[in-house]
Amino acid sequence: MKNLWIIANWKSNKTVDEALDWVAKVGPQIEKNENLHVVVCPTFSCLEAVKKAITGGGYSLMVGSQDLSPFGVGAYTGEEAASLLKHYIELAILGHSERRQNFGETDEMVAKKTLQANENGLIPLVCVQNANTPVPPGVKLVAYEPIFAIGTGNPDTPENAEKVAETLKQGVGQNLEVLYGGSVNSENVATFVDQQSVNGVLIGKASLDPEEFVKIINACKEI
Ligand code: PEP
Repeated sequence: MKNLWIIANWKSNKTVDEALDWVAKVGPQIEKNENLHVVVCPTFSCLEAVKKAITGGGYSLMVGSQDLSPFGVGAYTGEEAASLLKHYIELAILGHSERRQNFGETDEMVAKKTLQANENGLIPLVCVQNANTPVPPGVKLVAYEPIFAIGTGNPDTPENAEKVAETLKQGVGQNLEVLYGGSVNSENVATFVDQQSVNGVLIGKASLDPEEFVKIINACKEI
């Protein structure tokens, strides 16, 4: 199996009880495999409970956040600093198109957040909307997420995802890993991860349902 990332972005969904139910259903289904990285990115309010449940169950599941502060600790009301988050997470989604559209997140802010992630030993997963979105220095993992495909049921073609992944690698370096995100589900996931330059998927809506998410993981295992 090639190195593969399967990342669940729950967005602003799930109570703690719902989150724990998901972990209890998905965790035991993930087999230990050094090439398979399954990550769940809950809301901030669920991070601690999810992390404890995963550690307690001994599951091969990493925890990520959906954002983090561009600053360190201090007088930044409402922000979550990387140095505080690192007790619960290993990865942070940065620059998601919903943050850029709804919260005015800029490329400069994404670059600052990337710095914070790297300084605190977290993996920055930077979302790019096309091959022209700047990738900050020190980023080894990006998700190509075209806006037309996010939450619409209208994914990009696997062939175009491959082309964008190749272009990104040419620009940033061949050791960059590129994921695809946008209306991925258990029916179409294999067509994306089958592409040579695509190292996995970032999944929103279809990741909320534990049964569907397990189907997605199982479909990837065939690759
Ligand atoms: C996302 O928001 O990162 C995403 C890919 O959403 P969806 O799978 O719902 O299109």
